[in-house]
Amino acid sequence: MTGDQSVTGNQSVNVIETRGLGKRYGGTWALRECSLAVPGGHVAALVGPNGAGKTTLLNLTVGLAAPSAGTVAVLGGAAAGSAAALDQIAFVAQDTPLYKNLPVGDMLHLTASLNRSFDRGYARARLAELGIPLRRKAGRLSGGQQAQLALTLALARRPRLLVLDEPVAMLDPVARHDFMAVVLMAAAEDGVSVLMSSHVLAELERVADYLILLSGGRVQMAGEVDDLLAGHRVLTGPAGHADRDAGHLAVVHARRGQAQAHLLVRAGPGDPVPAGWEAHPVGLEELALAYLREPAATALPGPARARALPRDTAAPSEVTR
Ligand code: ATP
Repeated sequence: MTGDQSVTGNQSVNVIETRGLGKRYGGTWALRECSLAVPGGHVAALVGPNGAGKTTLLNLTVGLAAPSAGTVAVLGGAAAGSAAALDQIAFVAQDTPLYKNLPVGDMLHLTASLNRSFDRGYARARLAELGIPLRRKAGRLSGGQQAQLALTLALARRPRLLVLDEPVAMLDPVARHDFMAVVLMAAAEDGVSVLMSSHVLAELERVADYLILLSGGRVQMAGEVDDLLAGHRVLTGPAGHADRDAGHLAVVHARRGQAQAHLLVRAGPGDPVPAGWEAHPVGLEELALAYLREPAATALPGPARARALPRDTAAPSEVTR
């Protein structure tokens, strides 16, 4: 356990704060004008299509890449990549890199000797609970076990911030569920803040309470999930009147059937609903999908802007790539 002190500390600081952050590879900006302030104590989901800049943002956050523009600070002001930051952040990269020829026990020993705060007792207990033998070579473990081993080694460092790059992409639904259960336990019991990229929107709906949506290297939407959900509604009404009735609304995405149209709009519970239309609450997956389909739409702090009614698009899917 990291203790109450660290829990309180995390909740009162921004675990990630970026200002005008940008990263350029040659002539191409992978990330641009990214300004974020993610408060501690959250499980934050980083979502966006392929090439949106998610890995770039995570690499900048953990100090694996240097900014081309702007700044990134972690855990209340430490420079990303500084010794103070590295001590308190654990990162599991996209392909859960492990030394495949090393037995699990040797990996545990190696990681422990490289990290001052490594909690061997925690790591051994977790691996025993998971039924992962210390003598088995890491490369001989199943995909789910390899992911759990990487997560165990990361959490045994007792980080205040856990950064995960697409941790569940290759896992079956049970392994995915088990993996996320460990992440959620670390967040709830040890106060670990989590930043995690993923394409599996249905999973994020269950676990994330903060959302950052990237598109084309820019932040398209960011905020606490409760606030984002409270600030959007789905309006259902006559398709033939959608253009007329929605003219003054901040429509993010429109889906039209023969008779009915469904408009995802930026509007709170108190905002008026046009006559003949019904308002419904929106879920996180539906909200994220709507914005992913409309890369020009933004939901950042500031006033909502009414836009022309967007075109219809394809049916929803769980995974965005
Ligand atoms: P994915 O969902 O496919 O993992 P992503 O959202 O993580 O994508 P990034 O990997 O951050 O996206 O890439 C953002 C953009 O930057 C892409 O256009 C990518 O080709 C480019 N890019 C990333 N890393 C490099 C690099 N080392 N050299 C050149 N271009 C890069």
